[in-house]
Amino acid sequence: MLRAAGVALLVIGACTQISGSASAGPPGAEDRAQERLHMVRKQIEARGVRDPRVLAAMRTVPRHRFMPKSQRSYAYDDRPLPIGEGQTISQPYIVALMSELADLEPGDKVLEVGTGSGYQAAVLAEMGVKVYSIEIIEPLAKRAKAVLEELGYGKRVEVRHGDGYAGWPEQAPFDAVIVTAAPPKIPEPLKQQLEVGGRLVIPVGKYFQSLLRVTRTKDGFREESVIPVRFVPMTGKAQEK
Ligand code: SAM
Repeated sequence: MLRAAGVALLVIGACTQISGSASAGPPGAEDRAQERLHMVRKQIEARGVRDPRVLAAMRTVPRHRFMPKSQRSYAYDDRPLPIGEGQTISQPYIVALMSELADLEPGDKVLEVGTGSGYQAAVLAEMGVKVYSIEIIEPLAKRAKAVLEELGYGKRVEVRHGDGYAGWPEQAPFDAVIVTAAPPKIPEPLKQQLEVGGRLVIPVGKYFQSLLRVTRTKDGFREESVIPVRFVPMTGKAQEK
């Protein structure tokens, strides 16, 4: 599952009619639904994401609700945006790609390291999985938890404040682990907390990072490099020599 580096999106001509509609979803999901349909079509499907559950979730979750008010008008732009505390919400395409690479089924159990705004966790919850999400910056963890509860995702997402380097051993093993901050190398506990057949999707590296998918097999681990990426660094234990 290897994609070309630096995937470019070519949007030609005037805005065309958008077909289909977003599903019912959480309170307020009808707001800006047309912008989400456009985002999915032009930024996500156009770059090759095909998983219907991912596409449906990206059409449904109100991304703007996870952002500070000052950023909301840009919520459906094709780029990461600041969420405060020096952190960012990832570009929509990257959220969709990571969700697709995790290869999820409803009922799966997923660990997310780097809750940030809570948006990626909401997309996963909308796909029908149970999410355990860890955030190292306490004010972000608190704010994400509040928004997730407000939007009705509280039962499907548990947020914990802490260093995600060590994973969430009490809830392991996981069907998938998604990491949204880049360590210089893969934290061993995250690999060990995968189910056999489980997938770890993680950006790795300092200046030059690669998005990797590591699958646990019965004999070990299989690693695939997907695309070059640029994530904020994983802080905490990952920074120790
Ligand atoms: N998934 C997020 C979203 O949907 O908004 C994007 C998160 S942002 C790109 C990365 C997040 O990882 C930041 O909020 C950062 O504080 C957090 N982070 C960095 N190192 C961490 C660690 N060791 N444990 C948990 N969270 C960490």
